Amino acid sequence: MRILITGGAGFIGSALVRMLIEQTTCVVTNVDKLTYASHPEALAAIAESERYHFIQADICDAATLEQVFQAHQPDMVMHLAAESHVDRSIEGPAAFIQTNIVGTYTLLEASRRYWQQLADTRKGLFRFHHVSTDEVFGSLTETGLFSETSAYDPSSPYSASKASADHLVRAWHRTYALPIVMTNCSNNYGPFQYPEKLIPLMVTNALQGKPLPIYGNGQQVRDWLYVDDHVKALYLVATQGELGQTYNIGGSCEQTNLTVVRQICALLEELVPTHPQSLAMGSAGFADLIQYVVDRPGHDVRYAIDASKIQRELGWRAQESFESGLRKTVEWIINQQHL
Ligand code: NAD
Repeated sequence: MRILITGGAGFIGSALVRMLIEQTTCVVTNVDKLTYASHPEALAAIAESERYHFIQADICDAATLEQVFQAHQPDMVMHLAAESHVDRSIEGPAAFIQTNIVGTYTLLEASRRYWQQLADTRKGLFRFHHVSTDEVFGSLTETGLFSETSAYDPSSPYSASKASADHLVRAWHRTYALPIVMTNCSNNYGPFQYPEKLIPLMVTNALQGKPLPIYGNGQQVRDWLYVDDHVKALYLVATQGELGQTYNIGGSCEQTNLTVVRQICALLEELVPTHPQSLAMGSAGFADLIQYVVDRPGHDVRYAIDASKIQRELGWRAQESFESGLRKTVEWIINQQHL
């Protein structure tokens, strides 16, 4: 099977590409613009594979996309390219509107034109998998879970742009019969995440003795999922999900931001006790660096996913516990810094 992946040099995309090359026989074409958030080094292990092709391109560039489709003849598209950081979307929404909405539209049109001219057998097998977030559903109060039928209620420019993309993908299915599947996933963590996201930011700041900024009171709840578990779910949905359907993916692992940061501090004290910064913190420990800052505008209070549909219909289960996944992630960041 030939898969066209967008955003395959990003945090989740690169984990997906590595899994596809190392654990399947798929041929992968990775289209990525290589923005600040990309990690081309995350692909070093598979870059020489004959089944891997990389094209540096913007998903808003219709002409290049058309050439890529014609040259690489994909059986499936897995669309991950996006601007993904909420704080940046508040500072400057334009790139989010461009990539997440216009880019998704451009990719849908390129996919539709390509799919329509395929011969019947290949046309019947083609799929467009759109990768989205649970943030499109807005905020939960203390109880309840997001299901596939939860109403869309996005709060940030990021989540509103992803919600728009979700609506476009569903419209291309209903209007043009483009064969789509869609996933909405909770917060991911793991290696190669850009250190502006909570976990890598806190680890790198702590090791440099910088403050650990916590929005508001730190009681916002997120449902954490290790990136490799997400990637396995994506492959299952892409290959076995029912056409036109959406699947929620989550780790059933709710944690407040403050608890996550406290666990990171404890792990660092255990893993690098002789690091100059550990010694400098003394008995107070890394938690002494925690600094409460003015809350993010429109900050959602709680996200939590009901993942029973993908569990029931496709047999997916998260394998990694938060404890082991967080330890692996912190160890990975420490190793990157050659400590
Ligand atoms: P990321 O920011 O780490 O990577 C995004 C990748 O897309 C980068 O390699 C970047 O270069 C590429 N890209 C950006 N704009 C592009 C453009 N115009 N054309 C081509 N490539 C472009 O993001 P991520 O965390 O890996 O997220 C991947 C997808 O998963 C996104 O669609 C995101 O909305 C979704 N998602 C992320 C999470 C999470 O916790 N990180 C959770 C659920 C869903």
